[in-house]
Amino acid sequence: MKEATPHIPDPLSTQVQFLKGIGPSRSAALAKHGIETVEDLLYYVPRRYLDRTAAITVAQLRQIFTHGDPQKDQPYSEGDMPMTRLYTVIGDVLSFRVVGFRSRSRLVVVVGDSTGSIQCVWFGGVGYWKTRFEVGEVIAVSGRPTWYGKVLQFVHPDVDRIAGHGPGDEKEGNGVEPSATINTGSLVSLYPSSSDLERVGLDSAGFRRIIGAALRSHAPFLREVLPRTLLKDRKLEPLADALRHVHFPRTKEELDAGLLRLKYEEFFSFQLMLALERRRTRDLTKGISFSIKSKLARQLVDSLPFKFTRAQVGVINEITADMQSSRPLNRLLQGDVGSGKTIVALVAMLIAVENGYQAAFMAPTEILAEQHYRTLTSFLRGIDVNVRLLVGGQRSRLRRDVLADVQRGSAQIVVGTHALFEGVVEFARLGFIVIDEQHRFGVMQRTLLRRKGECPDVLVMTATPIPRTLSLTLYGELDVSTIDELPENRKPIQTIVKYEQEKEWVYQFTREQIRSGRQAYFVYPLIDESDKVDLKAATVHFEYLQKEVFPELRLGLLHGRLPAEEKEGVMDRFTRREIDILVATTVIEVGIDVPGAVLMVIENAERFGLSQLHQLRGRVGRGSDQSYCILLAGSGRDQLNIPGQEGPDEAWIAERRLATMAATTDGFKIAEVDLQLRGPGDFFGTRQSGMPAFRVASLVTDLHILEQARKDAFRLVTHDPDLALPEHRPLAGHVAAHLRDASSLIRTG
Ligand code: ADP
Ligand code: MG
Repeated sequence: MKEATPHIPDPLSTQVQFLKGIGPSRSAALAKHGIETVEDLLYYVPRRYLDRTAAITVAQLRQIFTHGDPQKDQPYSEGDMPMTRLYTVIGDVLSFRVVGFRSRSRLVVVVGDSTGSIQCVWFGGVGYWKTRFEVGEVIAVSGRPTWYGKVLQFVHPDVDRIAGHGPGDEKEGNGVEPSATINTGSLVSLYPSSSDLERVGLDSAGFRRIIGAALRSHAPFLREVLPRTLLKDRKLEPLADALRHVHFPRTKEELDAGLLRLKYEEFFSFQLMLALERRRTRDLTKGISFSIKSKLARQLVDSLPFKFTRAQVGVINEITADMQSSRPLNRLLQGDVGSGKTIVALVAMLIAVENGYQAAFMAPTEILAEQHYRTLTSFLRGIDVNVRLLVGGQRSRLRRDVLADVQRGSAQIVVGTHALFEGVVEFARLGFIVIDEQHRFGVMQRTLLRRKGECPDVLVMTATPIPRTLSLTLYGELDVSTIDELPENRKPIQTIVKYEQEKEWVYQFTREQIRSGRQAYFVYPLIDESDKVDLKAATVHFEYLQKEVFPELRLGLLHGRLPAEEKEGVMDRFTRREIDILVATTVIEVGIDVPGAVLMVIENAERFGLSQLHQLRGRVGRGSDQSYCILLAGSGRDQLNIPGQEGPDEAWIAERRLATMAATTDGFKIAEVDLQLRGPGDFFGTRQSGMPAFRVASLVTDLHILEQARKDAFRLVTHDPDLALPEHRPLAGHVAAHLRDASSLIRTG
């Protein structure tokens, strides 16, 4: 691939400081928010838009709050109070003053339009708010008005400056006339801001001004990277128009068209990178052609106490077809908890082993590696395969022995964490890698991994289903196999939400289950009690439950800090039914498999994320008996106890999570809700490294745009794999310049 012509400096990468209206203080504040170049500034898109046509006059507001909404024929009834709606008024600041003393002081701002005036009141943050206003400026106030005696008030409304002489505005004297591009449309763009940006005059009005100026001076330098045919086919507008429409839309249609174009381009660029990566790994690289006639796999299948589901057979066929071909296998194996992914992976590993290769099975944590090791060895009982476990906690003698075994090639299947692929570990003949990854790996890490060996096959298993927008992004270069059914004998798990005061019912229910020969889990968010948070801890409740609640039953305790042998001992006894109730932390989240356990009680359930709840619930429902999951939440329906988190929304979100769990067992549906509640950044608990940050596009709402962009990008690479056609040149340069990490991966080394 050719580099973009490097010697002409790109005006868009000019530092913002050289723009009109931006001096050193503003550019410093902008830099703190990641805006350094003109291009960064142009892509700083509004967080929302104020619809001026939806604003009402002060007189209308009084009318509504005296007589009901004239747009409706009836005054508001009780359940439809105007209080529950947001109203926006646009007017001039007529006056502002601080009233009262010290802690009891408040700021009163009077805003008026041609029909009258209204008070806005702030009780907190007076010192800050009073610096925000200047008499004569035009602001939009949004909120829910209330009557204070005979005065109509907005208390703590949202305020956006539309135009005027706010502090800082003219300071860096720019000669840009303020309102030319700013007040014409009915939509007013509102930008993400912060106190340090506002201090230098960069509130929404300030941003509109500098972005307006930047557009005027730099729009001619914007280069179109999308091929003309694509723009035409997808009815996308040119880049410069799109940016203008996103910052200064005159109508909703203009705004939508602008957003569409920008989102499409972002997705398209990323998908193009994936398409190139996929081509490199599939078409340009020679992989291993395995012979798939395998006695070992046959032996395994014959020894299983069950038959594969139709879906398992389907994915095994897909996997073995890839293994047989000389193209490397790069596949995502998706399937809900309990759908039987592990055994599928084992079949594939046995084929690799029988072909004289080693297989590596990588788990996200050491505990999980140990559990997988146990599962695999028990499946392989009586089958002659050497499986080894390699984890950090091992004694050095044992570790040295395992390492030697791996290097010699006599370790045929090696289970471990990502440490498997670090320095000291040398495989004699690595041919197949299984990554059970729980989303801790991104495209980049996988690419690096693939380059390690002599192009081994890579099978990625996700422990939980993820929404399609995310799988197309995170796993976008992989082929996908999905196990879309559970083994037949499973009854759907019944999920029940209970609150603290209903605890006795839960204990009684547990006793009944155990009396009829079944087993239960009680899961807690913590190992030890902590004075900081008011959460339940496994150790404390283990004692309490054993002594006070279930003295007649056998309880066991399992958590991550127990020594390995003790952990194993407890698990063995639970598996052999010598323990009735296993009290545990989330160490049991993945991998534990005891069909006799039919009851899962999760305490402080409001504290767990959706995918964690789903994983935990997946530990029951593994046999043919009816299983139950009881989510035991906080102290009461109205006040879910969530310390350390601000705002009422957390409680609402917690409630939504519990309701979702009760409503469905479908992992994909749960993942969709989770994504909506958390947003893509937090979807994986921590910000995950493989996740690209999109500036405009949303992984929550823009699936259809993503799918179009992906289709187009992959088709383009099929037609012109090296981006060599003249109309694709700008794209090649774009990929190289903007996806720097990515492009270094794309160039075949
Ligand atoms: P996953 O990893 O997809 O969550 P597992 O591989 O742990 O699921 O399988 C869950 C349980 O179901 C295991 O006990 C496994 O042995 C069993 N299992 C797998 N496939 C089948 C099947 N076709 N019929 C019955 N049980 C199965
Ligand atoms: Mg599993």
